[in-house]
Amino acid sequence: MSIETRRSFCRFCHAGCAIDVDVDTVSNAVLGIHGVQDDPMYEGYTCVKGRNLGGQHEHPGRLRSSLKRTGDVLNPIDTNVAFDEIADKLAGILEKYGPRSIATYCGTAAYQNATGLPIAAAFHNAIGSESFYTSSSIDQPGKAIAPLRHGAWAAGVQGFETADVAMVIGCNTLVSTFGYPGGIPGFNPLVRLRQAKERGLYLIVIDPRLTEVAHYADLYLPVRAGEDPTLLAGIIRQILATDAYDKDFCGQYVNGLDELRIAVDPFTLDYVSQRAGVEQDLIVTAAQKFAEGPRGAVTTGTGPDMAPHSSLTEHLVLALNTLCGRYNRAGETVYNPGGLMTPPGPVRAGVIAPKPEMLTKGSKSRMRDIYMQRGQAATSTLAEEILLEGEGQIRALFTLGGNPVVSWPDQRTTVEALRALDLHVLMDVHVSPSAQLAHYVIASTLSLERPDVPTTIDRWFDQPYQHYTPAVLEMRGDIRQEWQVYTEVASRLGITIKMAGGNITPGMKLTGDDVLDLIYANAKLPLSELRKYVGGHVFPEYITSVQPADPTSQARLEMVPAGIAEELKDVFRESNSGAVIHGFDPEVHTFRMTTRRLKSVFNSSGREVEKLRVREGTNFAHVNSLDLAELGIADGDTIEVASPKGSIKAVVKAADDVRRGMVSLAHAWGGLPDTPNDLSVVGSTTGALIDLQSGYDPITGIPVMSAIPVALRAVPVS
Ligand code: SF4
Repeated sequence: MSIETRRSFCRFCHAGCAIDVDVDTVSNAVLGIHGVQDDPMYEGYTCVKGRNLGGQHEHPGRLRSSLKRTGDVLNPIDTNVAFDEIADKLAGILEKYGPRSIATYCGTAAYQNATGLPIAAAFHNAIGSESFYTSSSIDQPGKAIAPLRHGAWAAGVQGFETADVAMVIGCNTLVSTFGYPGGIPGFNPLVRLRQAKERGLYLIVIDPRLTEVAHYADLYLPVRAGEDPTLLAGIIRQILATDAYDKDFCGQYVNGLDELRIAVDPFTLDYVSQRAGVEQDLIVTAAQKFAEGPRGAVTTGTGPDMAPHSSLTEHLVLALNTLCGRYNRAGETVYNPGGLMTPPGPVRAGVIAPKPEMLTKGSKSRMRDIYMQRGQAATSTLAEEILLEGEGQIRALFTLGGNPVVSWPDQRTTVEALRALDLHVLMDVHVSPSAQLAHYVIASTLSLERPDVPTTIDRWFDQPYQHYTPAVLEMRGDIRQEWQVYTEVASRLGITIKMAGGNITPGMKLTGDDVLDLIYANAKLPLSELRKYVGGHVFPEYITSVQPADPTSQARLEMVPAGIAEELKDVFRESNSGAVIHGFDPEVHTFRMTTRRLKSVFNSSGREVEKLRVREGTNFAHVNSLDLAELGIADGDTIEVASPKGSIKAVVKAADDVRRGMVSLAHAWGGLPDTPNDLSVVGSTTGALIDLQSGYDPITGIPVMSAIPVALRAVPVS
């Protein structure tokens, strides 16, 4: 055996931690993974998932050849032959039903792959198909669309590294290691949080669960699940009522302050306290401390953005930051000018005007009138777009880095839709529940087998940091990089794919590095420069300062754009977050099911590695022990969790960090419905509880995927 240590970065989740990979150069196998102590961003940090990347790569069930379905059986097929057959079938579908009938779904893993998703999107442009879906429309889509209504500050929100106060809502960065600008950074998060606390950060955490992050809070508000907009409206009202907002900033850059006062007026301390389940003095202190700042932002995570009224919640978050003027001003230092993989441009103080017209531009779904946002259709409509006959019906689907069976909302409709497809090509590394239903499973690379750059988090680094990695493992077997599925099919169809750095023409021979160059040709930091460095590197020459605002600009941030006042009235009228779901009965659905992140698995990834799966056991239903006692349920019992839409079984775990009246369950577990599974190993799919037809966000279409009203009862183990 000959061991070589090769530097790379982890892509198990989005965080992109720098790692050293010990490789057996004879067998090309991963022997070990370590953090990189001298990496300037991560300083040696890794988590248990990253340290087990080898288990994913060397998994005995790892696909080394592609598969084709015959009847109910998947049989090996030469990957080039699969491409021939796929192209042939796709040509027929394209000719008969048109471009919209061909769709792609990019799951979360596609965001840890700098080449797959951009090439998939470019392929869709090339064939003229707008049926492009990603997991971002079922995971916090409100963040992307809120600035279109509110406007944005061109120089960005104040960073965590200089914050005096941070308000974190439903975001457990110490477990999911996914941070947002202004919030706890997702890179080496515990060290960053401790350093901030040492320099005096005042941390406010709002969450129905006393999370790992909440343990570090100076002020913890245990909000009732689903009541974030109520609480935010109350905090805004309190700041306005006490004149604690930034009058200079608002006077210069804001429209609609009086309308905001009127809109939040019903959300009195008494009302909010009763409804959100938070004591009045905690709300008063949160408002006071946040407004005092003077620096620091409010940020959210998955919880509030999968709950009812998620776009409204994100608008209120922007409004709260604006109210307190929490933006980088002219002359201040900007350590990361919007990401080094993005095109260059000045960092200016000043308002980027709202563009509400963009919300209804382009195509919309054939059900519920959900418009495409930022070039993507709403994943919550995809299963129905497959099932609904007529013009625009989707017949063919490519799935990249995703596992729809356990991750799309409404599992039964999802499975029915996947079974109805004429062609489903799924890129995967093992036979997942979704792969079991696909027509072709293309054996794909895992992260260490491809060159890459962290692009999802590029703009969130608090330094001008980047990291290029070559492939540190050879591709073993008849496997492909995901982008190759699109270029190979395009080539067979005679289609040219246009990229920033030039065209990919039929028959063109490309490497992964060629594709990176074609995609990121306009990056501030040329890839040719980045490749000179082994491992992560800070490029201080990109540190800049905020330029003064354009003196001719009249743009203002809108506090109450169209739709906000009406939706706040709806929230007030509903008086209970469960009321948005058809069939909700307050006497029956007395609990709220909230989603939960886990340390050892990332969505549906990681469960296949037994060493990681056993650390979690299963996706337990975490319930407060006082609730369990009232229900006569014991720790370890099997319970039924029933929403107005559907029900699942789950193994109970008593958890007093969970507030009463809720059940906390990790999503993306389970398998195919009606298939015998060991609950204590495979878990259950929370998607079965989700209703597509009611409670959905009117702009993004995201259904209620957290804070779902449910009833709990003990059931015998079957
Ligand atoms: S936090 Fe994410 S990127 Fe970092 S080691 Fe863990 S799984 Fe890998």
